[in-house]
Amino acid sequence: MKFASRLVQFDAAPGDRFRPTATPIYQTATFEQEHADRFGDYDYSRSGNPTRKVLEEQIARLEGGTHGFAFASGMAAITAVARTLRTGDEILADSDLYGGTCRLFTRILERSGINASYADASDLDTFATKITPRTRLIYVESPTNPLLRVIDLRALAALAHANNALLVVDNSLMSPYLQLPLSLGADIVLHSATKFLCGHADVTGGAVVVRDPKLAEDIYLLQNAEGNALAPFDCFLLLRGLKTLKLRVDAQQRNTLAIAEFLAADPRVEQVFYPGLKSDPGYSLQHRQASGAGSVLSFTTQSAAAARAVAEQARMFQICVSFGSLHSTISLPGCMSHASVPTEIAASRELPPELVRISVGIEDAEDLIADLDQALPRPALRRAESDLQLGWDREVRCL
Ligand code: PLP
Repeated sequence: MKFASRLVQFDAAPGDRFRPTATPIYQTATFEQEHADRFGDYDYSRSGNPTRKVLEEQIARLEGGTHGFAFASGMAAITAVARTLRTGDEILADSDLYGGTCRLFTRILERSGINASYADASDLDTFATKITPRTRLIYVESPTNPLLRVIDLRALAALAHANNALLVVDNSLMSPYLQLPLSLGADIVLHSATKFLCGHADVTGGAVVVRDPKLAEDIYLLQNAEGNALAPFDCFLLLRGLKTLKLRVDAQQRNTLAIAEFLAADPRVEQVFYPGLKSDPGYSLQHRQASGAGSVLSFTTQSAAAARAVAEQARMFQICVSFGSLHSTISLPGCMSHASVPTEIAASRELPPELVRISVGIEDAEDLIADLDQALPRPALRRAESDLQLGWDREVRCL
């Protein structure tokens, strides 16, 4: 079956004698056993729950994996993957990474003697020089967030395997509809399910998908032993949201391209970062390894003050961290989603303070463009900010 069919054609309630078409919420911590010395499929919801099982199998199928695990958040999913490491092991991560992931790697894992280092994985040759004999995980998001650099996942998987390391891809920005990292050679794909998998900004969740049974055994051990699985009601909401993944992403992506083209042509915008634009350096690689560029883009305005003004003046784009919901949001990564990047790493990341990130929803594209148009600083405002902004006088359109 094609992806659109697989999103809705699956057994929503395996073994349920009433044959419900939506997955029931098995809101129970314990399951009665018939025998004292032999257990049935479920005994305790931390170890396994039927609602969670349906979700985990569905996510695994969609990602082209064999084993899926649902966690209480994206960070819990990333933590479980990191906990497969031992003291002395190292992680080599791309430098343009979600701030919370950097915080976990740098401030928490180092307590267990696991070190993380960072390099630009879109420059594979330089990245390869940072691998050490202790590197066990190579960890990336592609496209990266918030700079939307595209990383060659196939080449990176080959590099990881040649060095006895595993490739982990955080696929939150793309979703399995647009990109299937396991099919490109990755060993572990994970998600902040809070983003596109949920799509409605009403669940915090995470997911890990693998194909290797040994790795799956270890992730399950961690999920059960550490007790950070997703609760049944949240599993239900995720299952519900997932069914419309393709519809949402198609609509969001169409809107994003229209907005990217508008921004790229607007002289109040310095640079647009979006691999859906033909002019973007990542365009051809993105379209070789994924079927679209998604619905998150970043752009730089002419100053940090202008970036702040856009965020605060936009009416349809809520100022919000996160992305992937069906309503549009706007953020300044430097002081929001990526504020938790440790200072020494932030300094080397070149995250410009005038960077604005938007996550585009399913609203009408013309409305969204009109909103950004009115939110971008007008010449009069910019002249008040600085006498040096004389070039803006020619911008008759926004006077
Ligand atoms: N990965 C990415 C790319 C993210 O943007 C986030 C959160 O914004 C996370 C992981 C963490 O996920 P969660 O917030 O669900 O814990």
